[in-house]
Amino acid sequence: MSMVKTVGVCKAFGALEVLKDVSLSVEQKEVVCIIGPSGAGKSTYLRSLNRLERIDSGQIYIEDKLLFDCVNGVNTVKMPPHERNTALLEVGMVFQSFNLFPHKAAIDSVMLAPVHVRKIPPEEAREKAKLLLERVGLEDKFDAFPSKLSGGQQQRLAIARALAMEPRIMLFDEPTSALDPELVGEVLSVMKTLATGGMTMLVVTHEMGFAREVADTVVFMFAGSILEAGPPEQIFSNPKNNRTRQFLQSVL
Ligand code: ADP
Ligand code: MG
Repeated sequence: MSMVKTVGVCKAFGALEVLKDVSLSVEQKEVVCIIGPSGAGKSTYLRSLNRLERIDSGQIYIEDKLLFDCVNGVNTVKMPPHERNTALLEVGMVFQSFNLFPHKAAIDSVMLAPVHVRKIPPEEAREKAKLLLERVGLEDKFDAFPSKLSGGQQQRLAIARALAMEPRIMLFDEPTSALDPELVGEVLSVMKTLATGGMTMLVVTHEMGFAREVADTVVFMFAGSILEAGPPEQIFSNPKNNRTRQFLQSVL
């Protein structure tokens, strides 16, 4: 089963075409890393999967269910809104900027959506939040506010918060690029553990070492298009596209 699939997704901001016919499928338990230069459309693509951006045309499937089939910016799929929203809850997202609630202690921010969106009883949600915080190595930070956490800890908290909704696929948009270099490893290691545990992941990253080690498939995006995709050995050792080769030379 493909967990996320897009077919021919196009998106423009005014005259600027940001996504040009992007087709990609992420299978269950697969880890796909998207690499590419700044401005390639990587964030816009991830955001469109989570309905943070509206696409102009193309199809979006979540777990093989067609949720969006857009023509001129209008979704032609008729479906009760709650059904679409429920399907979209399967997709969790972690951003470059952690987007935490400044006035909420760690455990409260992890409990919030499960209690208010999933209607989990607070005590049950609290117990689960503790387990999640332990899982990301924040067992001694239950009551800490974001301002008292390092960047790496904040990002691990953001990962725990996303996991609390029990998503079946996780999207990561450059989760380590706002971090001081010495804090990158702790976040990548949490992500690696998630991947090893069988989470389906779509990760935009500049961490080529992570992509090489953890990805099943690496996708190179440039100027709104996927130019090349394949297993990491092939993309990193023997890229077929000149643009991919140039990009890798500039970052490696
Ligand atoms: P990437 O994540 O690969 O760096 P983005 O998806 O953020 O690329 O951006 C792709 C292009 O779309 C860039 O040229 C960016 O300036 C433009 N863009 C992104 N968001 C908006 C927006 N809300 N309005 C106008 N242009 C945007
Ligand atoms: Mg981006």
